Amino acid sequence: MTVSEFCLGSMRVIKVHELDLNGFAATQLLPGLDPSVLAKHGEWIDPRTYDPMTGHVFMSVHTWVVRFEGKVILIDTGAGNDKDRPTLKVLDHLHNPYLERLAAIGVQPEAVDYILLTHIHSDHVGWNTRRYGDRWLPTFPNATVICSDLEWRYGAALTAGDEESIVKVRTEAGFSLPVRIPVPGVFVDSMMPVEASGRLKRVPVDGGEVLQGIRFLSTPGHSIDHAAISITSQGTEAIFGGDVMHHPFELYEPDLVSVFCEFPEGARNSRRWLARHAAESNAVYFSSHFPFTSVGRITQTGETFGWEFADSSSHVRNQPGGLVVRERNMGVLPFSQ
Ligand SMILES: [Zn+2]
Repeated sequence: MTVSEFCLGSMRVIKVHELDLNGFAATQLLPGLDPSVLAKHGEWIDPRTYDPMTGHVFMSVHTWVVRFEGKVILIDTGAGNDKDRPTLKVLDHLHNPYLERLAAIGVQPEAVDYILLTHIHSDHVGWNTRRYGDRWLPTFPNATVICSDLEWRYGAALTAGDEESIVKVRTEAGFSLPVRIPVPGVFVDSMMPVEASGRLKRVPVDGGEVLQGIRFLSTPGHSIDHAAISITSQGTEAIFGGDVMHHPFELYEPDLVSVFCEFPEGARNSRRWLARHAAESNAVYFSSHFPFTSVGRITQTGETFGWEFADSSSHVRNQPGGLVVRERNMGVLPFSQ
């Protein structure tokens, strides 16, 4: 098995793949996408991200394992197995060997210390729990799960059908009516069991540290209180951007809004803000749905953004057990320019 390990300062990051999402037409993912725009960007469109023959975008669902300060941290937990998602067929009753893949990189469920959630959507919180008979219980029994307090309260209000609280939380977030709400059932089967186990920690998403060196950056819009997660080590910053963007197209055309976003104007503003921040700080950007390595840097020229994949074609070394790790020090190795 080959994995790419990304090293920044003292941080070690490995992607754990869950599933490919290659069935979406670009215009399905981004309904405002004018095909002529694709022609305009023909020069940079990367064949690893888009198939011009079918018009489909390449995406995936994956999570990030971060080893940092002696802790094992998971950033988001994918879609999960056995979940009942009748309104989202692509995630309905999955049976993926996700835990086996985690084990293959040396991470047993008991070893995870923290789970940091960018937001409470079906493809980001699924492996928080797994099915035992007719119950859902935490998959990672020793992990503290950290999420936005406001996003939790919104999910609780929606689940209870408590209109007054729903409006109150939206007002607090500075939003009015959304164009969609989170997929029903996710909060019940993937969040409430974590809270019941006493392992949930709710935090404000205000840029303050949630753990040493780790901050939740406020990037609302895709969801009501979405957090991009920033980890800084020895002067280098990693940003785990969640769903501030789903595909590199959104960097080249940042006003496009995905079909999965709840508050479009907020999503646009947060995307521009985060892209600018990542470009200015020269951060390494770990995406939630970009294909290939899913890692790279965001570039900026004036008000125009761009994307450069990091690949791991250098520093190959053999590990015990036949595991080959392609190691790349993101802090010093150049990106293709
Ligand atoms: Zn997502």
